[in-house]
Amino acid sequence: MPAGSRMPAISAMPGWVRQCLSVLAAALAVTAISIHLGPLPAAGTGTSERWQWPVGNNPEVLREFDKPPEPWLSGHRGVDLAATGAGPIRAPADGQVSYAGWVVDRPVLTIEHRSGLRSSFESVETDLSEGDTVSAGEVIGHISKPWHCGSRACLHWGVRRGEEYVNPLQFVTDLRPSVLLPLPPH
Ligand SMILES: [Zn+2]
Repeated sequence: MPAGSRMPAISAMPGWVRQCLSVLAAALAVTAISIHLGPLPAAGTGTSERWQWPVGNNPEVLREFDKPPEPWLSGHRGVDLAATGAGPIRAPADGQVSYAGWVVDRPVLTIEHRSGLRSSFESVETDLSEGDTVSAGEVIGHISKPWHCGSRACLHWGVRRGEEYVNPLQFVTDLRPSVLLPLPPH
């Protein structure tokens, strides 16, 4: 470039050039944001984020989720995960305890996650009580008797969205593609 030559002032540019520049600027801003954020955290409460297994790492599923065709019909409102007797149970995602106590003959712990999802576990021995906050991966209790699976130690894990039971495995396995969503404007 010869000495003294300068980029023309933005206001002196034709409209289409200005438009191109603003699109480019927006693209650069998006790139900068993705670099800044890096990968999403492994555990979270959003429905598109991965949760952690509440017991073990990829434990055997002793009984699959079987959504009842009608709310009053029988089915299996969760999954039964193989566990070791008295083994630790971890919070699959951040949340707050909304129930800890006995339901009829079994000890139950319920955690309210953000985004309206609720995890329920049984049979669980816990020191937590209603209102306690928990972080993903934190030990929230231990497998207790009576075992939900009879002669074998297991954890029953149910997830509700509102009053609807959904398959908990969708939050810990690759049932869905991982998608990086655009950020909302600030
Ligand atoms: Zn069960």
